[in-house]
Amino acid sequence: MERPEESNGGETAAPVRRDFIRSRIDEDLASGRHRQVVTRFPPEPNGYLHIGHAKAICLNFTVAQEFGGRCHLRFDDTNPTKEEQEFVDNIEADIRWLGFEWGDHLYFASDYFERLYGFAVELIEKDKAYVDELDAEQMREYRGTLTSPGRESPYRNRPVAESLDLFRRMRAGDFPDGALVLRAKIDMASPNINLRDPVLYRIRRAHHHRTGDDWCIYPMYDYTHPLSDAIEGITHSLCTLEFEDHRPLYDWVLDNVTIDCHPQQIEFARLGLPYTVMSKRKLIDLVTGRHVRGWDDPRMPTLAGYRRRGYTPAAIRAFAEAIGVAKANSEVEVGLLEHHLREDLNQHAPRVMAVLAPLKVVLTNYPAGKVEEVEAINNPEKESDGSRRIPFSGELYIEREDFAEEPPKGWFRLSPGKEVRLKHGYYVRCDEVIKDAAGEITELRCTYDPESAGGTTPDRRKVKGTLHWVSASHAIPAEVRIYESLFAEAHPGERTGDYLDDLNPDSLRVLADARVEPSLAGAGAGSVFQFLRQGYFCVDPDSTPERPIFNRTVGLKDTWAKLQKRS
Ligand code: ATP
Ligand code: MG
Repeated sequence: MERPEESNGGETAAPVRRDFIRSRIDEDLASGRHRQVVTRFPPEPNGYLHIGHAKAICLNFTVAQEFGGRCHLRFDDTNPTKEEQEFVDNIEADIRWLGFEWGDHLYFASDYFERLYGFAVELIEKDKAYVDELDAEQMREYRGTLTSPGRESPYRNRPVAESLDLFRRMRAGDFPDGALVLRAKIDMASPNINLRDPVLYRIRRAHHHRTGDDWCIYPMYDYTHPLSDAIEGITHSLCTLEFEDHRPLYDWVLDNVTIDCHPQQIEFARLGLPYTVMSKRKLIDLVTGRHVRGWDDPRMPTLAGYRRRGYTPAAIRAFAEAIGVAKANSEVEVGLLEHHLREDLNQHAPRVMAVLAPLKVVLTNYPAGKVEEVEAINNPEKESDGSRRIPFSGELYIEREDFAEEPPKGWFRLSPGKEVRLKHGYYVRCDEVIKDAAGEITELRCTYDPESAGGTTPDRRKVKGTLHWVSASHAIPAEVRIYESLFAEAHPGERTGDYLDDLNPDSLRVLADARVEPSLAGAGAGSVFQFLRQGYFCVDPDSTPERPIFNRTVGLKDTWAKLQKRS
């Protein structure tokens, strides 16, 4: 795999790749079809943004940036029953967090309801739309199938004046929900089912988060979208592949109303990740069914979840850039996202010591009551981050899994009679193992070599292992939450038909007895640290001053990068 260009945080245009979207824009600028590029990101405010949306956001905003144009944020709020202000607010916050700005260009499709209504009247007047009385069941039956043509509704050729009158009365509230619809008059025999007289308006008495009860008819997405794009002067309307078959309808709408803008719809592949679900319906079910702790649960593929887990906007942007855009749907390995995350955190995360599952170590020859401070560098990748001092004393904690009473072959860590180095501290040798009545190891008695400060001894004795540790009386008790993928199967639901069957029962493991070095006191929610030898960890907002909580963001081992090197 070719290494992606260094991402510099998106402030300036990175070296531009010529994918099919950018090439198309190049052509449109060269031919004079457009002088400026205007894109948009059009979320429906019926859920939180996920990592798939991030791909679309990065694409739309960076393409606009690269070409010196602009990108609009437009809420596609045509479905009042599912949309809420909470979602609008969180979507805005998530896009800003990713590092993108829409300036004055915040729009809502609902702001266009009056104009959309006017265009519908125009279509009826031109005999391009009609009010239909078939019910949903009949309409389905008349529509035909992929292999057989549809049939025309008996209402299709009613006089224009009659449709006009009925449409006005639909708006005025003269009919119950679902009684009538407005349909485009296109072609019931079209091989493209989207063109078989699609519904443009339906009657629905529902309170809208912005227009309140002003409307009881609402326009359909396929009708609203091209018109909203055109009203805003969008030049390139980038959307996911499933809309490819809708493009003829997109173009039909714009060709048949009086509007002097015709954006080009261009489709690209959706992002899919294994062990993940991204459909909003499923994400909503995970939240409402309490399978996760909320939209921002660190196991969720939502941007809110990634943020809480400690992912950085730079990492997600670099990932989006690396995957690029393609015309065929495919899945991207989670390891690639993690790779970009590590690259970023490695640069910026301060190194600290934390013991996730502690085992007490008593240094029998260390002067009683003595405490010294050892110097520890904050980030070897960034000398300017300086160093700090951490307390060292005669009672320490090390990681329980760094000790083996009967070490396997090749064991470099601590075991009876063996010597290891304590990072930033001294050499220690294990003399005695103390156990409780149940045979559980409760403590190790060790001796330290006072001459080994600084990491070596005058006799240059070799030790193989270096362990992290904390001073027992100075360390802060903490909770650590270790996450695995939310699903145990790469394609949740593929086997049984129900994705909930594939929830991973071990997706969250809580280590309630961790100890972290005292420099972490008061670390703010959202700060990310590298716990030496363990991985990257982010302070969770559930933390209290007495009891910090850390989410494991990602482990240290980059299997993705290794695999790439090998292949
Ligand atoms: P649903 O899950 O209900 O299909 P959606 O993901 O399409 O919803 P929207 O709010 O309509 O939700 O999406 C906004 C934009 O994000 C759309 O232009 C859509 O094409 C794009 N988008 C959504 N999912 C992905 C994805 N997995 N990869 C890339 N782009 C996506
Ligand atoms: Mg959608």
